[in-house]
Amino acid sequence: MIELKSTHFVDNGDSCYFPATCNAAKALQLRFYFTGKKCKAGHLDLRYTSSKECRTCRLNKNPSLKDKQKDWAIKNKDRISVVGKQRYYQNHEKELARSRAKWAQNPDAVRTRNLDWIRRQPRYWTFAAAKRRAALRQAIPPWADLQAIKEFYAACLPGYHVDHMHPLQGKTVCGLHVLENLQYLTAEENLKKFNRLEPRYVSSS
Ligand SMILES: [Zn+2]
Repeated sequence: MIELKSTHFVDNGDSCYFPATCNAAKALQLRFYFTGKKCKAGHLDLRYTSSKECRTCRLNKNPSLKDKQKDWAIKNKDRISVVGKQRYYQNHEKELARSRAKWAQNPDAVRTRNLDWIRRQPRYWTFAAAKRRAALRQAIPPWADLQAIKEFYAACLPGYHVDHMHPLQGKTVCGLHVLENLQYLTAEENLKKFNRLEPRYVSSS
């Protein structure tokens, strides 16, 4: 497993985490990393993994890129809701207490809603997919029957997902990408499980 030291980056009220070093970002095949420090020109911005260059510096060198980004921002205006986030940061303590109370009342509902929210973030997908690719690469032992795995995936019925019984990125153990570790689950069961190792998979020895 790759150890991830991540830094918090806030961009127009859009807040997310990035790897802190170029090497970590490379290992995850991400375009950007964020050191949390200013560049030589004084910009506090993401750096490109390819060149270690700061994003603002590159944009200033290449104005047409800037226009492209502006177009994107205009087209996706409704996706970037700043107001709610600003309010959140201003009332951080109060909000925290409120969400803790909600969690205490019904942890499952909160977890489901949170996962749902995370999964709707486009950046989550790049990050999660890259993390998963890296985990997958490390989880394939030389003896794995890749053809059998391929057939297992191909035979999956509609409405079902192929699931790793021991998750590739589990909290306590990391499973292998081998036929013996695969099963079919409904989407609902899969969501319920979400990287938690079920008691029935834990050996008593
Ligand atoms: Zn810069």
